[in-house]
Amino acid sequence: MSESKTYDVVVLGGGPGGYTAAFRAADLGLSVCLVEKQPRLGGVCLNVGCIPSKTLLHAATVIEEAAEIAEFGVDFAPPKVDITRVLAKKNAVIEQLTSGLDGLCKARKITRLSGIGVFKDTTTLLVTGADGEQQVKFTNAIIATGSHPFKLPNIPDDPRIWDSTAALDLQLVPKRFLIIGGGIIGLEMAQIYSAFGSEITIVEMLDQIIPPADKDLVQPLFLKLKKKYTILTKTKVTAVTPAKGGIKVSLAGKDVPENAEFDAVLVAVGRKPNTADIGFETIGLAMDERGFLLVNERQQTNVANFYGVGDVVGEPMLAHKATHEAKVAAEVIAGHKSAFTPMTIPSVAYTNPEVAWMGLTEKEAKNQNIDFDKGKFPWGASGRALSAGASSGVTKALFDKKTGRIIGAGICGQNAGELIHEAVLALEMGANAEDIGLTVHAHPTLAETFAFAAEIVDGSITDVLPPKKK
Ligand code: FAD
Ligand code: NAD
Repeated sequence: MSESKTYDVVVLGGGPGGYTAAFRAADLGLSVCLVEKQPRLGGVCLNVGCIPSKTLLHAATVIEEAAEIAEFGVDFAPPKVDITRVLAKKNAVIEQLTSGLDGLCKARKITRLSGIGVFKDTTTLLVTGADGEQQVKFTNAIIATGSHPFKLPNIPDDPRIWDSTAALDLQLVPKRFLIIGGGIIGLEMAQIYSAFGSEITIVEMLDQIIPPADKDLVQPLFLKLKKKYTILTKTKVTAVTPAKGGIKVSLAGKDVPENAEFDAVLVAVGRKPNTADIGFETIGLAMDERGFLLVNERQQTNVANFYGVGDVVGEPMLAHKATHEAKVAAEVIAGHKSAFTPMTIPSVAYTNPEVAWMGLTEKEAKNQNIDFDKGKFPWGASGRALSAGASSGVTKALFDKKTGRIIGAGICGQNAGELIHEAVLALEMGANAEDIGLTVHAHPTLAETFAFAAEIVDGSITDVLPPKKK
């Protein structure tokens, strides 16, 4: 077994958390070894998550928009979808991004090892790969091992029952497609497969789709989707039985179909951290009751030279959380006074229309007994939204009555995922409704709707009637 020099930092996992930590540490002058078991860097996000899903969603959205433009008097012929070419495009995007990471890694003189890493003790990582086993000695370790799909206990193994990775492989477009879980993965996959021709049924155990967001925010999306999909909320899958002609599914809930049968089933009910068989117990790393690695705001674990970042340290399991945490871990190791203390981490569902939110939702503000003012601007009153066929959208902003400052915002509509960042900046900067209303927004833009939502609270709105004085 070969033994390495002692690196300042070993990073375990080459996803957004791992490669960002490795790059930042190298840029700060530390010697770095990055260990990844898959052939390509990029983790879930680049290989089987954010990027492939957004590539397929782009194709799906164009298909939907081509149909919707009929309202403007423009008719296209029905699309011809060549799945082989769709997949080739998806793979080309992944290839371009992951090979870009290879180049960035090399340019930074980071040592890359391909294999499964297991900690032997607090200064040694054993890496088993195609070339056998190697011992990597290190002073500090950053754990960025990510997460994997949660498996429901009562679901059997069958090639027609998929997780998100299998669904992104797009091996076939099932006629009757059941999606268990009305969260972000479920809805994004529904959009992709619906555009390619599947009949979608979504089963969600809670009382709304995308449960973390406010119900009224999700409503424009829900009203649009329910015309095309069967959406069963407050419903549970009680049995799944693969049979020759299809997968038989029993459901428990109100108005559920009897004898439901599907050609494929996607299980998208959340993800679990990757913490097993990595030697965490050997070195005494503390985890919470859900199995997430425990870290403080400096990304430090309970073991002095060990740090954790990304999905493995908890929710929200988002790539942009992982990369910010990763920079903090590298900087703390380099002796900087960094900490991960954002006021919010925005969430975006890349559906059509998109749903984006940040800060507190209304239900969270109410639970925290915060007295707030709400400005809600309907896109039906926005010239840009009407001219873009996006009039069903909505923008809302919440302001603390005591301080006047913005505490939360949500947008449902075209480009919501881009528009939400103005609200994030406003929250980070402590803006109030007047600050936002007086910030001149170009006309006609969808961004104006955020200023209008603030003007409703400020009392200076003219684009709709001002709220009645109480
Ligand atoms: P990961 O990306 O999971 O990377 C961990 C890496 O560690 C993996 O490459 C794994 O192979 C490696 N590893 C694990 N154990 C070992 C070991 N013992 N030895 C060696 N290597 C190991 N987030 C967003 O922000 N926006 C989106 O649009 C979005 N879309 C998504 C769509 C889907 C379908 C899915 C599944 C997820 C999506 N996410 C999205 C979530 C996002 O992918 C994750 O939050 C992000 O990848 C987490 O990064 P990470 O570095 O913590 O972990
Ligand atoms: P999720 O937690 O977002 O949604 C899962 C949904 O399944 C929830 O609504 C939950 O109530 C429901 N559910 C759970 N058990 C169920 C059951 N037995 N029957 C019916 N419904 C059930 O999880 P996800 O959609 O699997 O996504 C996993 C992670 O990946 C999330 O943390 C998400 O943030 C991340 N992700 C992010 C994006 C994005 O940022 N656009 C896209 C995809 C995934």
